[in-house]
Amino acid sequence: MSIVVIGSVAYDSIATPLGCRDDMLGGSGTFFSLAAARFAKPSVVAVVGEDFRPDDLALLQEQGVDLSGLQHSPGKTFRWGGRYHEDMNGRDTLFTELNVFESFQPKLTPAQAESSFVFLGNIQPRLQDSVLEQVKAPRFVAADTMNLWIHTARAELVEVLRRVDALFINDEEARELTGKRSVVLAAREIQAMGPSMVVIKRGEHGAIVFNDGDIFYAPAFPLERVVDPTGAGDTFAGGFVGYLESTGDISAANARRAAVVGSIMASFCVEGYGVDKLKRVDRQAIRERYEAFAKLTTFGGLVL
Ligand code: AMP
Repeated sequence: MSIVVIGSVAYDSIATPLGCRDDMLGGSGTFFSLAAARFAKPSVVAVVGEDFRPDDLALLQEQGVDLSGLQHSPGKTFRWGGRYHEDMNGRDTLFTELNVFESFQPKLTPAQAESSFVFLGNIQPRLQDSVLEQVKAPRFVAADTMNLWIHTARAELVEVLRRVDALFINDEEARELTGKRSVVLAAREIQAMGPSMVVIKRGEHGAIVFNDGDIFYAPAFPLERVVDPTGAGDTFAGGFVGYLESTGDISAANARRAAVVGSIMASFCVEGYGVDKLKRVDRQAIRERYEAFAKLTTFGGLVL
């Protein structure tokens, strides 16, 4: 297996201006893994409860996600609820029920401990740290986080960041973490905390990759219809890290391509509820959108 992933495997209940859905398969680990599985072999470290549906286990397996590190515990699966605003760029968290994650002790399988790529998805920094401790010789460690942990577990988060190569974070969270209004200054400050690569996610405005001295801007793909933005950030990270791993190339030039791949995967994700669209994306669809993306961002030389 190529990428070990810790993150939530969850049931999400969401409301958007277009409709509501309850108890859909979701979670940071799920979205990341489904996107990464188009390129690499992700292996999840997570826990689900007794209510986790066999169909969802089968779906993850069919999609190429290794579940040998998925624990099953008595109790309920992690649940999250969110309501999107009219323009869908903003949302409010309605509830977060950690359930079986509350007492979760991540234990990597021997094969997972040998992974060279690690993704520490959005979950308590304490759990992220415990996973990182168990990986013997990581080559590339990426992480995500959210405002909840910035506010409630800042010291642990800062500790984890010292050992991370790439942090995926949205612009608002980057400001909250650093107190800097400018995303450029916020990214620099985060780089000083440890990660040489900082990917600032800006929803429908794309993502900016700060990679040592290199800065790259990947727009979001313009879509006619956004159905459900949940998981777009994790899906972006899954495409990004999956592509880096599959090419074996973590150079700045390849990180630019990986950012476009991440943006493409996120664009598919938001076109359906939960994982509905993401699970149907094949390599041909990715290639086509990559070409469309190139057209979108190519312009000729300046005549002045
Ligand atoms: P995103 O839209 O990329 O921020 O990701 C949303 C996903 O993150 C949903 O599927 C949720 O289940 C999951 N999620 C939300 N809050 C948390 C949390 N506190 N810990 C872990 N996962 C979470």
